[in-house]
Amino acid sequence: MRPASLSYAGFEEPHFLEACHLCSKSLGHNSDIFMYRGNTPFCSQECRQEQIGIDEARERRCRRVSKKSTSEIKKSSTIQSETLVVA
Ligand SMILES: [Zn+2]
Repeated sequence: MRPASLSYAGFEEPHFLEACHLCSKSLGHNSDIFMYRGNTPFCSQECRQEQIGIDEARERRCRRVSKKSTSEIKKSSTIQSETLVVA
């Protein structure tokens, strides 16, 4: 029940900001941090761009896999074009 432990609890640093997500370079308080998707830190624009490329490639792969269920996508796109015609 020490008051010191209370103030220590309030001194929580987010651990995910400690290092670059891509190259694991430690991110100091004085260095630039490039955020991506809200909570992913990078040491440089290059690292972030690299991760964006990785994510995009992954998403493209996912989309190709989920193409098996095209019927739903086709339905919604038909609805969209119909709405366009009406408007
Ligand atoms: Zn980096």
